[in-house]
Amino acid sequence: EDKTVNELEPTVAKVADLKLTHPERVVFPDAGLSKADVADYYRKMAEPLLAEIAGRPLSVLRCPDGIEGEHFFQKHRGKGMGEHVHTVPIEEKNGSSDYLMVDSVEGIEELVQMNAIEFHPWGATAKKPDQCDRLVFDLDPANDLPFKRVIEAARMLRDRLKSLNLESFVRTTGGKGLHVVVPLSPAADWDAAKDFAHALASACAKAEPNRYVDVASKARRNQRIFIDYLRNSRGATSVASYSLRARPGAPVAVPLRWDELGRLDSAAKYDAQSAPSRFKRLKRDPWDGFDRCRQSLTAALKRLD
Ligand code: ATP
Ligand code: MN
Ligand code: MN
Repeated sequence: EDKTVNELEPTVAKVADLKLTHPERVVFPDAGLSKADVADYYRKMAEPLLAEIAGRPLSVLRCPDGIEGEHFFQKHRGKGMGEHVHTVPIEEKNGSSDYLMVDSVEGIEELVQMNAIEFHPWGATAKKPDQCDRLVFDLDPANDLPFKRVIEAARMLRDRLKSLNLESFVRTTGGKGLHVVVPLSPAADWDAAKDFAHALASACAKAEPNRYVDVASKARRNQRIFIDYLRNSRGATSVASYSLRARPGAPVAVPLRWDELGRLDSAAKYDAQSAPSRFKRLKRDPWDGFDRCRQSLTAALKRLD
């Protein structure tokens, strides 16, 4: 008799077909979340996550022994990955190399089965890996810097970008900082993307040297925010919106409307529970208009000179 229920709900039955080994394995000890909970999270959030990662070369952070065990980033297909985990050949200096790519719920679930917790796409599609279609300014605050300062940094960047006629969008990372993301259509060569991002980060550091630095060195960061422009190069990744983070509390990277920043008190505000409930309540995409932005770096680069 139970079968009848399953037949009425083919998607449920289908998902149940996916084999999840060790569903009881503890992944987030402090939040009390198991591998089955992680799979549940990604099943619920597959649609918005796919909007971020489908068709892009992808790295995943795998944590076979939970977030307190050893982690590793993986960008190539590994043993035991399911049939929905695809690869895309990417030209590199010493020949071509196969990068991971998924475009389905099944693909996500198969990576979760391999203990993937975090999803990190390129700022380029697999079809055009040489063209950057989204810039990411990754705001990395020094330890103990009040979060308010990170919000100010994001707004400052938004204003600067606006003055260059570039619209931008903001997300929490689930960690310590925020990402300011700029869609590019038409896309840009990686050289242009990197030069532009570096130039803008340097301009901020020059204008407010007590607040911003454009070098990664932690020693130089002292009470300041590193405007990490290094996400903008071929092969670099940034965490996807709606990815879980392998950090205490099971936080999630979440896209926000700019007018929500005022009420935000932490980049780890949303977690495996609250991110899906927020998503369900949304009346429209906080990044509404992202895909419709028609803006390129060509004009902006000239203005910046
Ligand atoms: P936080 O807000 O805490 O800084 P974050 O995701 O921005 O969170 P970063 O350390 O600033 O963390 O890294 C930025 C991005 O760079 C990551 O989202 C990830 O995609 C990529 N990255 C960082 N470290 C590695 C690594 N060891 N290997 C591959 N990619 C990495
Ligand atoms: Mn960061
Ligand atoms: Mn960084």
